[in-house]
Amino acid sequence: MLELRNVVKSYEDKPLLTDISFTVSQGETICLLGASGSGKSTILRIIAGLDFPERGAILLNNIDLAGTPPHLRDFGLVFQDYGLFPHLNVFDNIAFGLKMRNASVDEIKQRVTALLEQVNLSGFDSRRVTDLSGGEQQRVALARALAPSPRLLMFDEPLGALDRSLKEDLLNEIRNILRQTKIPAIYVTHDQEEAFTIADRILVLHEGTIIRDGTPSDIWKDPQSAFVAKLLGIGNVVDGEVVAENKIKTDFGTFNLNFSKNIGEKVQLLITESPSPLGEGRRGEVREQIQLTVEDVLFKQDQFQVKGRGGITIHMKEAPRIGEVITVQVQVKCLS
Ligand code: ADP
Ligand code: MG
Repeated sequence: MLELRNVVKSYEDKPLLTDISFTVSQGETICLLGASGSGKSTILRIIAGLDFPERGAILLNNIDLAGTPPHLRDFGLVFQDYGLFPHLNVFDNIAFGLKMRNASVDEIKQRVTALLEQVNLSGFDSRRVTDLSGGEQQRVALARALAPSPRLLMFDEPLGALDRSLKEDLLNEIRNILRQTKIPAIYVTHDQEEAFTIADRILVLHEGTIIRDGTPSDIWKDPQSAFVAKLLGIGNVVDGEVVAENKIKTDFGTFNLNFSKNIGEKVQLLITESPSPLGEGRRGEVREQIQLTVEDVLFKQDQFQVKGRGGITIHMKEAPRIGEVITVQVQVKCLS
C-alpha cells in the first residue's frame, strides 16, 4: 500500500501542496482530479522520487521512501507526451527496463511479445516509434511501463494529446489492464469523464489539499461542496437564503430543509433531477417539484438538454418548446 502523509510543497515561496494525505491500496486505481496548475504532476513527481516534499512522507508498505532513488522505487510512469526513446524501435523501447535488470534474451522476447499482445500491438516489434500514431505511441509507453511489473503505475494525463474516439478506446484498455494486473495506479487528469470511467476512487485536488475523496458514485450522489459539484458538472448549484427556521428561499422556490443554519445566512443548494417519490430524503435533503421556464433546448445523445431560466439544466426524453413552463421533479440538498 502506498501512503502519502501530510505532504507539503511550495514553489518560489508560494504554497502549492499544503497538506496532501491519501493511500492507494493493492489493486486500486485512484484518480487525482484537479484544474491545471493545481499540483497534480508535482504529486506524481514527488511519489516517483523526482522531486522532494518540504515536509511529510511517502511510504510504501509502511516503509519511508525518502532514501530510495527513483530507479529503485519500481514505479512505472506514463506521460502525456509518451516520452519514448526515439532512436529505439518498439521492441527495444519496451525491453528497456528488462535489460536494465539483466533479464535473459529469451525472457525479454517472451515478455515483450506478451505485452505487445496486451496493448493490441502484436507484430509492431521492429517499427520505429517515430512512425507510429499518437495512440500507438501511448500503447508502447504503457507496455514499457508495465514490462518490469512495477509496484505502482502512475499516469499523468495520458490521453491529453489524443482525439476523442482514440481516447475512449485507450482509456478502456488501460482500465482492463489495471483490472487484470491488479497493479495499484494513480491516474492524473483534469477531465471528469476520464476520472469517472477509470477510478475506483476519485480524489479532488483544490488549493493544495484533497477536498473530496470517494468512489465515483458516492461523489456523484453527494459532492458535498459547490466547488466539487461545479468541477464535476453534477446537478445545478443554486444560491439561497435562510428565511425562517429550516426554510431556504431560492429563485426556484422555497424549500423546507432540515439543516442547522441561522436565519439570514446565505447558502448554496444542489438541485438534481430525481425520479424518486416526493418527500423528505436524508438529512438536509428534500424531493420536490419546481417550475422551469424553458430558455434553450439542445440535443445530446439520446435525450434533450433543457436550460431553464435562472441557469438550471435538466434532461428530457421529449423536447419542450422554448418559453414553455415545465414541471420538474428534483432533489434539493444543502451544500454549505
Ligand atoms: P498540474 O499538473 O496540476 O497542472 P503542476 O504540478 O504541474 O500542476 O504545477 C503546479 C504549479 O506549480 C505550476 O503552475 C507552477 O506554478 C508550479 N511549479 C511546478 N513545477 C515547478 C518548477 N519546477 N519550478 C517552479 N514552479 C513550478
Ligand atoms: Mg500536470
